[in-house]
Amino acid sequence: MGKLKYTYNINTLMNHFNEHDHPLHSHTMPIFQTSSFGFTDMDEAVKTFSGEDQEHFVYTRGRNPNILHLAKKIALLEGIDLIRAEPDKTPDEIVTGHCTASGMAALNALVLSLLKSGDHILTHTSLYSGSHLFLTHICPNFGINVTVLDSNDPDIWEEALIKDPKIKLLYLESPSNPRIDLYDIELLANLAHQYDAKMAVDNTSATPYHQRPLTLGSDFVIHSSTKFLSGHGVTTGGAIVGRDVEFISFWGKLGQTAMELGATPSPTDCWLANNGLKTFSLRMERHSSNAMKLATYLEGHHKTGEVLYPGLESNQHHLLAKRQMTNGFGCLISFEVGNSKEKAHQFIDALTIPSIAISFGSTDSVIQLPASMTHSGLSPEERRKAKIADSLIRIAVGIENIDDILLDIEQALNQL
Ligand code: PLP
Repeated sequence: MGKLKYTYNINTLMNHFNEHDHPLHSHTMPIFQTSSFGFTDMDEAVKTFSGEDQEHFVYTRGRNPNILHLAKKIALLEGIDLIRAEPDKTPDEIVTGHCTASGMAALNALVLSLLKSGDHILTHTSLYSGSHLFLTHICPNFGINVTVLDSNDPDIWEEALIKDPKIKLLYLESPSNPRIDLYDIELLANLAHQYDAKMAVDNTSATPYHQRPLTLGSDFVIHSSTKFLSGHGVTTGGAIVGRDVEFISFWGKLGQTAMELGATPSPTDCWLANNGLKTFSLRMERHSSNAMKLATYLEGHHKTGEVLYPGLESNQHHLLAKRQMTNGFGCLISFEVGNSKEKAHQFIDALTIPSIAISFGSTDSVIQLPASMTHSGLSPEERRKAKIADSLIRIAVGIENIDDILLDIEQALNQL
């Protein structure tokens, strides 16, 4: 098989990158569902444990072919613009990635590898609830304080950086979950670097199909691969990808931290996620074109209140979205019907297509009420600050036929 061209479309790359040299000429990547790897003799074992041979697999909690295979593919996806810009280098020389057991494990491993007690984090409201709770309820117990801004105004972010020189990490989720707010990644990455901090972006909801934070200057990207990357709602996983492969003190520590935390994904989960990546761009195209049609319909309906979707011209983030996102605006829409929790329940219960479930990124549409479900672990005060109203509904639009989804939404609205 000749050398794959990185100028190929990501759809081609996700189907062919590292896919043709599997053991016994297996056409697809086999699952290495094993906890340990053996040695033919003691010489081989000693060389491996002394670090002389770094390729030999030892123990799946540390390294496994399926986990590495997935990490390289996600790194390729996130780093594709940087890779194309330097055609004389291999992808490994430009971007690197590490897979974890979940999106939360990716965030934990990032923070525990990059920061130490006394370092601070700057982030914003309306994060995924688990990320918010980890950063604001757990990190402070270990001497890592977190400032939460409820603004995307860069001047306010700069003021915070000036006031607190201990800030070493800016942590963004853009678009955020569940209010679908956007943050200017390029501008905030420049600010972070100006003030000697790193920046990480949770790119779970946009995915590299719509947005590539590394291209915009972010140091790291975090993923819950549980969502769109695997795509079918059958795995749990996470990833950390970075553009500074020379940052050995971090990547070495990250591998070790994740291993000692036990934040390692299972080979089968990685194998499933890798299969999901083969249809990634096809799915994303349909998810986001469906979402655009649904958001437009909801905005035009007299029974809906505010509709939060960055693809709408009326949305406060639309211009930024057009600048930093490509190929559409993702599948998450948050909106209100009738401004009351009761009406929201009535509407959701009347639907026949979307499942009532948390998570997103599987092929089917899912709907939930963040204040009562994903974000119920936040205090009412935290939800008020994050502007998560009790009646705010979040739908993750699937790849079903859009006419069926629109008819279903219409019949449910008619019942209110
Ligand atoms: N980031 C975002 C935006 C999420 O929505 C989630 C989970 O819903 C996570 C991170 C955490 O991912 P996981 O559930 O895989 O730990």
